[in-house]
Amino acid sequence: MNGKTILVTGGAGYIGSHTALALIKNGYDVVIFDNLECGHIETVDTLKNLSSYRGRIIDFIKGDLKNPEEVSSVFIRYKIDTVVHFAAYISVEESVKNPQKYYENNIVGSMNLFSEMIKHDVNKIVFSSTAAVYGEPKSSEALQENHEKYPINPYGWSKFMVEQILSDYSKINKIKSAVLRYFNVAGANSEAIIGEWHNPETHLIPNILRATNGKTFQLFGNDFDTKDGTCVRDYVNVEDLADAHLLALDYLESGGISDCFNIGTNEGNTVKEIFDICERVLEQKINVKICERREGDPAFLVACNNKAQKILGWTPKRSIEDSILSAYKWQAKLAEKK
Ligand code: UDP
Repeated sequence: MNGKTILVTGGAGYIGSHTALALIKNGYDVVIFDNLECGHIETVDTLKNLSSYRGRIIDFIKGDLKNPEEVSSVFIRYKIDTVVHFAAYISVEESVKNPQKYYENNIVGSMNLFSEMIKHDVNKIVFSSTAAVYGEPKSSEALQENHEKYPINPYGWSKFMVEQILSDYSKINKIKSAVLRYFNVAGANSEAIIGEWHNPETHLIPNILRATNGKTFQLFGNDFDTKDGTCVRDYVNVEDLADAHLLALDYLESGGISDCFNIGTNEGNTVKEIFDICERVLEQKINVKICERREGDPAFLVACNNKAQKILGWTPKRSIEDSILSAYKWQAKLAEKK
């Protein structure tokens, strides 16, 4: 038992739940705080019932970061060592239509969390950020952390602004932060204990997998300036990503300074390539229809992860095939639940 208690905001969601699982496997005790607007109580119950690990989910608190009293109650009840902060709205499209919702939830909610942390002397946080902070990349080279940040939608801005707030708080020694900028997250727990569960689902791999039952996958745009005309993304496995959070915790614990890290694989795949890999690993033909471009999709987003490798000691271990197969297994399980 390592005896540390970690507060995971948004722990009922996709990446939050995989990280909570990695934490309990590694002996941490976890308090999950989630308003269940996007997350699922079934996911929390599944995690709570796992009893063979050194750590455990010691509590689930249904609460909203926009409500300071609800946030405060967590810090009063538990001695929190470090916060891992996922809770946020994540739809680019919705953020364009309703920026206020995104700024209020993602920024004001985060600020409430930081205020309560400061009040209760909790001074370490791992923050879930995104490649969307880079906006439209200047070239088709892998992006380094110092690439210009100019988001092209309110979702990206909301994350970038929280990064800035954390950086400013760090300068006056209030909170030390490890900011992880995720690229495209894929896959599920390899035993299909938990997985991706969005409603509506907008992401590429789950949407291709959903088309395996005779439906048609819609491919958004084949006229980009890339090798086959479809967008290039960097797909990082969710369990590898969860491991990055553990390393970020170790980094902060061992005196690391506030910093940000790209979490991706250094490799890009086009949408067509991902589609072909799905057909190959699942050994079946999938219907596809080429559609108009989706608004706001940059042609190319690939991480340079050298900094995370060097400073956090993180390397991605799982392949894109692993991600697709685990996502497929999870999807079958999810279909049984519905
Ligand atoms: N995409 C697609 N059909 C879908 C979902 C996604 O063609 O049903 C494309 C999308 O246009 C983008 C890539 O797949 O080029 C990755 O999209 P996703 O929503 O998974 O992640 P994003 O890069 O937008 O965060």
